[in-house]
Amino acid sequence: MPESQAGPVIFAAGTLMPISSPPLHDGAVLVRRGRIAAVGDLTDLGRENPDAEVRFFPNYTIVPGAVNAHAHLGFRRKDAPEGGTFSGWLRGLIERLPEKEAWTAEAARDSAREAIEAGTTYLAESSPYGECLPQLAESGLAGTVYAEFFPHEIGAPEEAVEFIVGKARELGKGLPERVDARVSVHSPYTVDPESSRLAARSTREMGWTLAIHLSESPEEVEFVKSGTGGLADIFGSNEWGGAGVSPVRYARDIELLAPETIAAHLATGVSEEDIEILAQTGIAAAHCPRSNDFLGCGVSPVPAMIERGIRVGMGTDGLWSSPSMNLFEETLFAVELHGMSGAAGLELATLGGARALGIEAETGTLGAGKWADLAVVETSAEGGDPERGVLEAAASGGVAATVVGGNVIYNRLGR
Ligand SMILES: [Zn+2]
Repeated sequence: MPESQAGPVIFAAGTLMPISSPPLHDGAVLVRRGRIAAVGDLTDLGRENPDAEVRFFPNYTIVPGAVNAHAHLGFRRKDAPEGGTFSGWLRGLIERLPEKEAWTAEAARDSAREAIEAGTTYLAESSPYGECLPQLAESGLAGTVYAEFFPHEIGAPEEAVEFIVGKARELGKGLPERVDARVSVHSPYTVDPESSRLAARSTREMGWTLAIHLSESPEEVEFVKSGTGGLADIFGSNEWGGAGVSPVRYARDIELLAPETIAAHLATGVSEEDIEILAQTGIAAAHCPRSNDFLGCGVSPVPAMIERGIRVGMGTDGLWSSPSMNLFEETLFAVELHGMSGAAGLELATLGGARALGIEAETGTLGAGKWADLAVVETSAEGGDPERGVLEAAASGGVAATVVGGNVIYNRLGR
């Protein structure tokens, strides 16, 4: 029987950071049937709920679990293609695709495990045709697989979109309660405008979110604008490269941008005007700064996007462009890159990701009614910037336990 089906449990720590309310000393959450029933003082909750099992971590801090808004599970740690330029890296990746088939499942299992041991509770995964769904579903994480499709492998736009939507529906059958399958329009250089438009339209009609990569690299900007450069060398100009506009404008023109859309990266060539388009269309962004750094993709204007009211979450991307699946470590990198406070960073890693994915009513903070998704971090959270202390500890192996929907899926303390 999963623990979430058993009796009530109180998870408590020296410090509890609900994010949606101020930190609590000796704070606790009462969990019933996987959801948070109450948040408060350990002594009070214990007295009011004498039947609850108490799991108290005195010298630790409990925070909401990390929400990874953009990841790929299917890359293993070794053999990554060289970084430096996006198109050079992508060329290396494409060359290795045949051998990758042999170890994708194992890599996906390892990546998911690494994410869990770093305090991740929800993960948005993108993989070709949703190939990493089995490993996400069996990991204990909550999450979504976004099935990427490559229309030239399938057929005309209508046929390709019908296929991938049917595929996502098929994948969605018989999954754990909090795992689902959706569609991804991979990128402006791999998916033609008509297939992109149709996929966005039909998934939106069903109320599905849609994952895309957008404005990631200098080569993508050049491809969309002029139909030339490193990506055109790989894919050809594909008839649609050379639209004469920025990737963001192009994506808007083909109706890809809407509140259901989560755009990963937005790292290169995002102008003030583009930010305005992103704000007006209501899209969400997944910020993957370590991948952008590794691939020579520039710095996403995240502070300006947040200022403009754009929802931003954090993403690790995959192990071939990023050093780890640790979302808190990714966030610490962003905090340093943008000069943010620890509190702003911790919010990005948790509530920010949940908002970006449209699941903030379900997870992202420790509040009554939400799933009990939390991480127990080895830090007393004292000093000038306690939230930064949490990020630093979690970034360097300090996550002691991870709880998803009330189930303890990782616990190195054994209590
Ligand atoms: Zn990606």
